[in-house]
Amino acid sequence: MTFRRLFAAAVSAMLCGTGGAGASPAPDDGIAAMVSGVSPARLRTIDETLVGFGTRNLFSESLHSQTRGVFAARDWIRAQFERIAATSGGRMTVAFDEYLQPKTAYTPRDVEVSSVIATLRGTDPSAPVYVMSSHYDSRNSHGNDATKDAPGADDNGSAVSAVLEAARVMAPHRFRSTILFAAYDGEEQGLFGSAHHAKTLHDAQTNVGGDLNNDIVGASTDWHGHDFPYVVRLYSESLPAGADVRSVDRAASENDAPSRELARFVQDAAAKFVPQMHVELVFMEDRFGRGGDQQSFTDLGYPGVRFVEPYEDYNHQHQDVRVEHGVQYGDLPQFEDFAYLARVTQVNVAALASLADSPDPPQSVQMNANGFCFGSELRWNASAGRSYEVLWRPTTAADWEHVVPVGTQSHVFLRVDKDHALLAVRSVDAQGRRSVAVYPALARPKGTPGLSDSLCHTF
Ligand SMILES: [Zn+2]
Repeated sequence: MTFRRLFAAAVSAMLCGTGGAGASPAPDDGIAAMVSGVSPARLRTIDETLVGFGTRNLFSESLHSQTRGVFAARDWIRAQFERIAATSGGRMTVAFDEYLQPKTAYTPRDVEVSSVIATLRGTDPSAPVYVMSSHYDSRNSHGNDATKDAPGADDNGSAVSAVLEAARVMAPHRFRSTILFAAYDGEEQGLFGSAHHAKTLHDAQTNVGGDLNNDIVGASTDWHGHDFPYVVRLYSESLPAGADVRSVDRAASENDAPSRELARFVQDAAAKFVPQMHVELVFMEDRFGRGGDQQSFTDLGYPGVRFVEPYEDYNHQHQDVRVEHGVQYGDLPQFEDFAYLARVTQVNVAALASLADSPDPPQSVQMNANGFCFGSELRWNASAGRSYEVLWRPTTAADWEHVVPVGTQSHVFLRVDKDHALLAVRSVDAQGRRSVAVYPALARPKGTPGLSDSLCHTF
């Protein structure tokens, strides 16, 4: 606390230049209306319909049925997206992302993988693209069993329901960014569908601003029956793909990967629009030793985070439906809480809508790494019509604790010392909307345009 008082006082006095926040209130009404439009009853109907297809195992594609199996579910999901697209004024299109997956060491044969992708086109083609993802395939006790039921109500009918419901409340609205609503196939065998889709985006040089992945988000009780109806976990990786650990350590950026800044943004959006929900940030890429479709994005260097319910009940996950010693096993709708799933969906809608209308994050953010200089010298490329905020926190804090508005400047010197604080920069547009924060790259003053090695000595 001493640290905070000491430096908070210093910051306001020692800004280099004029600064000034001047942010007007954010245009929140549209987002609040979308959030309040989420329907628990509709989520239940979608989820129970998905369960009604009996199994959605990847290998049930061979059933060639309209009422049972993974492709029967796929066709129904596509039809729901197409009904939603009819409300979008022609901005939403729906397509399969499909390919033939060869046999692997863990799968018995070649198989067609077919994901459903709804694209809600944004108004600015240069803006980052955001993804809300789920997987619609399911499994029972045996990963490749396509015969016995695999209801997959929670894993992952819950998230497909959330994605469809988010698409429904958002499709009539215009956003700056394009939003992709994804129901992936083949997650249970190795993230097949999401890996193919993320690679397709990457090959097309798509600027993906982040993937909000949802997987197992429909129940709020733990295995003792304790209820946590207002908590959702949000996982984010510590280091981006390809990070050089020594460089990360020298730049003190092990807790500031783009995925983690995205997670902090999501938590802020939830606090603003769904304040009854606590988004519990977990600083791991996924549960211990486990994974999800967001990794198909982070593996390619895109930001990605994963939502999951507060506790998972393993009697209801990856289990054949059966009763043993009076205990019901199986991933059945009776174990879900659709009011809870609605709140998780609302968190996604709040975050996605906030991201999709946010200004681009500042580019080329750099921190002067002159080791003999107290304070922090930051520079970035400024854009017309944008102002900026520097965020900072003690190195041991989980989230940003201080905001310093610096107006339209692109070069500031703060008396918050980079040697025992962490700093980042974010953009603010004329309506007061904030971007995701950007952690600075380490820059040496000599030969770095825009950074000085003498400014600090005037302090
Ligand atoms: Zn899953």
